[in-house]
Amino acid sequence: LWSADELLDHVYLEVSGGRHNGSAVPRPEAEVREGTLRLPVLYDTVKTLDQTVAVDYYLPGCPPPVELIKRAIDAILQGTLPPRGSVLAPLTAVCAECPRKREDKRITAIHRVHEVVPAPERCLMEQGIVCMGMATRGGCGAQCLKVDMPCTGCGGPAPNRPDMGTGMLTALASILHLDKEPGTYTEEEVMELMAQIKDPVGLFYMYSLPASILKRKVMKR
Ligand code: SF4
Ligand code: SF4
Repeated sequence: LWSADELLDHVYLEVSGGRHNGSAVPRPEAEVREGTLRLPVLYDTVKTLDQTVAVDYYLPGCPPPVELIKRAIDAILQGTLPPRGSVLAPLTAVCAECPRKREDKRITAIHRVHEVVPAPERCLMEQGIVCMGMATRGGCGAQCLKVDMPCTGCGGPAPNRPDMGTGMLTALASILHLDKEPGTYTEEEVMELMAQIKDPVGLFYMYSLPASILKRKVMKR
């Protein structure tokens, strides 16, 4: 979301309180006694792998689950790989693998994960904890949900929701409500409701911002 210069200044000058007087900011080239040292240039924009090179197959997950890796190796050995460019994972979302029950409950407040102890069997979203399971491709067996942590989206977009952020906005719009008649909310009330979601870009696009419809913040030059 920031330019390379802004990031470098923040990390090496502002966070360190400027105690290195600028000398610690990495430079693409530095002269030392032995010659010139060169570092890769940091770009302003992060690109996805497939924006840079042709990708044969995608194995989602951070890291990809062992079972998906095993199935991919089996498919290679047996010559049963799907068409090039396919995602080697189920055509379902994490919610389909999640053992937690959804009861179509509405919520009026968002909680951060450290603020509440969730009921063990109920959907986290319906307890006010933002969970990316609806917008994320399955294949991991909903591992995080089994240890009371919400899905953060490491499996990438669900098959029918190519943009994770808009997928989550749709999911939240259908569940997040005020205690009054829908359609009667004022703009301030809606803004107050949405303000409960801290760092929405970081939350919704933790793994997918460069591949999203947003891609990055508009930069003024
Ligand atoms: S939103 Fe999260 S907690 Fe709820 S069913 Fe989906 S994966 Fe499970
Ligand atoms: S539940 Fe979500 S964040 Fe956790 S491993 Fe599965 S896809 Fe990744």
